[in-house]
Amino acid sequence: MKALSKLKSEPGIWMTDVDVPEPGHNDLLIKIRKTAICGTDMHIYNWDEWSQKTIPVPMVVGHEYVGEVVGMGQEVAGFNVGDRVSGEGHITCGHCRNCRAGRRHLCRNTYGVGVDRQGAFAEYLVIPALNAFKIPDNISDELASIFDPFGNAVHTALSFDLVGEDVLITGAGPIGIMAAAVARHVGARHVVVTDINDYRLELAAKMGATRTVNVSKENLPDVIKDIGMTEGFDVGLEMSGVAVAFRDMLSAMNHGGKIAMLGIPPGEMAIDWSQVIFKGLVLKGIYGREMFETWYKMASLIQSGLDLSPIITHQFSVDQFQQGFDTMGSGESGKVILNWS
Ligand code: NAD
Ligand code: ZN
Repeated sequence: MKALSKLKSEPGIWMTDVDVPEPGHNDLLIKIRKTAICGTDMHIYNWDEWSQKTIPVPMVVGHEYVGEVVGMGQEVAGFNVGDRVSGEGHITCGHCRNCRAGRRHLCRNTYGVGVDRQGAFAEYLVIPALNAFKIPDNISDELASIFDPFGNAVHTALSFDLVGEDVLITGAGPIGIMAAAVARHVGARHVVVTDINDYRLELAAKMGATRTVNVSKENLPDVIKDIGMTEGFDVGLEMSGVAVAFRDMLSAMNHGGKIAMLGIPPGEMAIDWSQVIFKGLVLKGIYGREMFETWYKMASLIQSGLDLSPIITHQFSVDQFQQGFDTMGSGESGKVILNWS
């Protein structure tokens, strides 16, 4: 079968011919219809320090997808051939304390699809049936293919009560933008989004930000005054992984504010801890999505009218994968989808 692989220890990605994976007793065999390119795939494409430490070569990458069940192991219950599914890319151990308590997103022994084991940028994918999520009929393939990053946005945004609250989102990458859409949909008042990229800030404004701030041109404290906020933000969603953005956030929070942190800083990140202490801030780290509460909420949010479609800015056939990666790397895109069928 065709598969996009990390074939060499250097920047790039290669179309390869690999064996169709065999489902084990508890696995599903999924025929992939659409995949989306994640920031993680761009790290692997660029072969940065993290990828060099993490990704065994050769490796089929990718973990954002939608497909159709075409086969399954003998122990699988609850799925049928023909079901349309996406899936949780974190394969958890099932035997640690958190897994056994149903808190699988906190498993300490997680493996990543397309990171530690064969990924979804291929004609077929095998995952444990436990990780698959059936997509309701009224949700399109396009949207289903981005449930993984949408799940990051939903899990982060719904970490704290947003109803009537003023929310600051630092970083208008695809996940920050989707988080802005969620925050607005569930009833936040001000949803202020910062970035240094005007293309992405425009998309954020289209999808739910009530005010966008290009922090390379505008000063966040001025904006806060300008929109009539007197005390600071109630909730912060850190979605850039950039130290200066996080520091901006800390100084813009109200006392007692709550911050959910998804963005991954490249290394250690120094902050003024007195902001956290004297303001009595609550910080919560976010990894992945809740299995599977976040997945059900994603479906419900879309079914209750959340319009995510503008975040999908580009679609290519998989044969044009290079164009897809170039587009994603340009910064002038939301989500980029590759079509496999
Ligand atoms: P992305 O890289 O597309 O978005 C980050 C954005 O931050 C970019 O648009 C960038 O221009 C912006 N930015 C740069 N400097 C800034 C500044 N000073 N102030 C505000 N914004 C600034 O990433 P994404 O795919 O949307 O993901 C968001 C973050 O979450 C990334 O750091 C990613 O690695 C991380 N992530 C974490 C998890 C997890 O489980 N914790 C999962 C997926 C992604
Ligand atoms: Zn576990």
